[in-house]
Amino acid sequence: MKKGCPYGTHRVIEPKNTLPQPAVKIDNTMEIYDNEILIDVQTLNIDSASFTQIKEEAKGKEEKIKEIMKNIVETRGKHQNPVTGSGGMLIGTVKEIGPALEGKVDLKVGDKIATLVSLSLTPLKIDEILAVRKDIDQVDIKGEAILFESGIYAVLPEDLPENLALSVLDVAGAPAQAAKLVKPGDNVLVIGGAGKSGMLCLYEARKRVGVNGKVICLGYSEESLERAKSADLADVYIKADATNAVEVLEKVKEATNGEMTDITINCVNVPNTEMPSILATKDDGLIYFFSMATNFTKAALGAEGVGKDTTMIMGNGYTKGHAEIALQIMRESKELRKIYEELYA
Ligand code: NAP
Repeated sequence: MKKGCPYGTHRVIEPKNTLPQPAVKIDNTMEIYDNEILIDVQTLNIDSASFTQIKEEAKGKEEKIKEIMKNIVETRGKHQNPVTGSGGMLIGTVKEIGPALEGKVDLKVGDKIATLVSLSLTPLKIDEILAVRKDIDQVDIKGEAILFESGIYAVLPEDLPENLALSVLDVAGAPAQAAKLVKPGDNVLVIGGAGKSGMLCLYEARKRVGVNGKVICLGYSEESLERAKSADLADVYIKADATNAVEVLEKVKEATNGEMTDITINCVNVPNTEMPSILATKDDGLIYFFSMATNFTKAALGAEGVGKDTTMIMGNGYTKGHAEIALQIMRESKELRKIYEELYA
């Protein structure tokens, strides 16, 4: 059996000397190296920014969505959207474990797991697309994937439905970061607060700001805002277009009595929301860009252009304990669990 690199560099085809994530093409033959795990894939959870782009390109047509997805995987050996650069994650069953991993992983053949590394670096083969659940970014497939030695995963919990766990784990980095960043007394704005990651961030922020803080949910559609209200996730709800800097600035000014926010968490799935996030935040505040539609250049030059000393954090999808924190929310909050079960389970 061939020996592999922990980071999966042995699978990079093009360009040479890169890691699998930035690579344009990786080897997706499903014969494992000695330190890899082979997974029988059941469902892909496509990243929201990516799936939004694919649906737009396919004009909502299911057959076209399937064609685009298959084409991405055939071309790249992984599901990395060439427009957004992002992936998603998957659930499946462990089929084979490389001998070099013996004693290193707490897994056995037959375990149901969710991979917590992006599909944008995961070798994947799609034999057939069985079902496309357009509203929740999930696609059932017949196929296989490889997890590298450095790849993280979670064994699916038995007390939560699989599709629910998959949806929550997909965005686990966001609430875990919110839990780390928010302090008592903070004004916290979650842009895209009524979406999947947004509601989890609101929940964690609300737990932490205390009586002197304020949590603000900015959403787009009436329907999703009503959903967030029904779970009492925020102190203030704003309906606004997150791409409209002036509208966001004025509405956040009103909601905070002119103070603006200490922390802004951006959870939208559309481009051009950097400037509104910057303007909503205090000069010495902090912005956490979880959105994959964030453009580094627009954020950096945008902040400079308006003379803001704001700290901006890129949405690292991983932070310690993120899977446990996200799944725990589903156990703690009956209201959120009900919403997530209705939407995703
Ligand atoms: P989601 O459930 O689709 O939520 C997106 C939210 O954005 C929705 O609530 C939507 O509002 C709102 N929105 C869209 N356009 C808007 C606009 N013009 N103005 C105001 N709000 C708008 O998405 P998600 O799964 O939470 O993912 C959110 C983002 O996180 C995506 O960009 C995704 O790619 C990214 N992500 C990042 C990581 C990471 O590791 N950093 C991991 C996973 C996902 P409505 O509901 O009203 O339409």
